[in-house]
Amino acid sequence: MFYKRSSALFAEAQKYIPGGVNSPVRAFKAVGGDPIFVKRAKGAYLYDEDDNRLIDYIASWGPLILGHAYAPVIDAVIDKAKDGTSFGMPTEIETEIAKLAVSMVPNIDKIRFVNSGTEACMSAVRLARGFTGKDKIIKFAGCYHGHSDSFLIQAGSGAVTFGSPNSPGVTQGTAKDTLLAKYNDLESVRQLVAANEGEIATIIIEPVAGNMGCIVPTDEFIKGLREICTQENIVLLFDEVMTGFRLGKGGAQEALGIDADIVCFGKVIGGGLPVGAFAASSEIMAHLAPEGPVYQAGTLSGNPLAMAAGLAMLTELNERPEVFENLAKKTEYLHKGFDSVLKNKSVPYQINRFGSMISVHFTDTPVIDFETSVKGNNDTFIKYFHGMLDKGIYLPPSAFESYFLNDALSYDDLDETIAALDALEF
Ligand SMILES: *Cc1c(COP(=O)(O)O)cnc(C)c1O
Repeated sequence: MFYKRSSALFAEAQKYIPGGVNSPVRAFKAVGGDPIFVKRAKGAYLYDEDDNRLIDYIASWGPLILGHAYAPVIDAVIDKAKDGTSFGMPTEIETEIAKLAVSMVPNIDKIRFVNSGTEACMSAVRLARGFTGKDKIIKFAGCYHGHSDSFLIQAGSGAVTFGSPNSPGVTQGTAKDTLLAKYNDLESVRQLVAANEGEIATIIIEPVAGNMGCIVPTDEFIKGLREICTQENIVLLFDEVMTGFRLGKGGAQEALGIDADIVCFGKVIGGGLPVGAFAASSEIMAHLAPEGPVYQAGTLSGNPLAMAAGLAMLTELNERPEVFENLAKKTEYLHKGFDSVLKNKSVPYQINRFGSMISVHFTDTPVIDFETSVKGNNDTFIKYFHGMLDKGIYLPPSAFESYFLNDALSYDDLDETIAALDALEF
């Protein structure tokens, strides 16, 4: 495969866009080489500007759970656009998608739509603070909750890929209200709660982590968090931007059997358009403007095109819940295939998986938190990434990202992927 046109487009982009991309993980900084420019995509495949066909394992970083250019979603957007693209006034479709989302997810009564996962998490924390009257928050090292200031403290995803989990530009004042705990380590949470008695507004967590690779919470850990939050009057905030409408209709709350107090959404809920949302009980949501005093707003929030895409997506998932099970089976198949191939190679590895999320880490140590995720050998990862890419398999260009399977992937595609790995020399 060659990427002549992609490289030329990247050179041009760098003249006008910082680093040539509008979001850092798209650049190949962690793996070297030039990023690939996409021309179009359909189902499980990306077609790039050099007319290479790639089997896609990122699905736009999660949203496209039913595959690219999924007809009902595309048709809904086209139809809606003909009636105008934005009004800054209420529309019926906002209630339709809200009603559907609330019916699919356990434990939420009301939902507010925004334009990104970042906005959802940022606003949800403000709501938690306004609701509890407390200032501090606990987050977990390696978890990513978007790029708002409070979260860029030991953040995962692109932040860790580029070695700046603590971003310049975040003030000391902001940073001091974000306390850092260790994933899967309840004791680290207990200590922070005890040392900051009566000051913690919320504990925010990726209930299944996906931004330091895929990391599954232990039962004891996630149940323990719920208990601590209930006892200490702390809002348990599940950031389900990745897991919501991916791990099942009810997301991680349903998959893990835990009720959070506030839940954030993004990615799948927008069907590939810019959408985020946060949701909670009527009691908590009553604190949000204009019903209550906690301010939050957006000129394009609830945008009709975005709502049309999201509604079409959620409607499909609601009517065909077997999709989640099918995806989990495909992911298990890929896991087993990778396992059978990798155990005959000379590299240490770990494979983590939950539902349709999976990641490979080149290390001896089980990957259970941020510390163990950074132990992965990056040189091996680079060989793996580029080796797979050469064979037409597009994986996340960073060792700190989960793969997202989509329903359009066939077992033949999975076999092709496993065969590509088998042919790879480390
Ligand atoms: C992607 C992601 C975000 C940020 O969403 P954006 O739409 O990129 O702002 C927040 N939290 C989690 C868990 C994510 O995976």
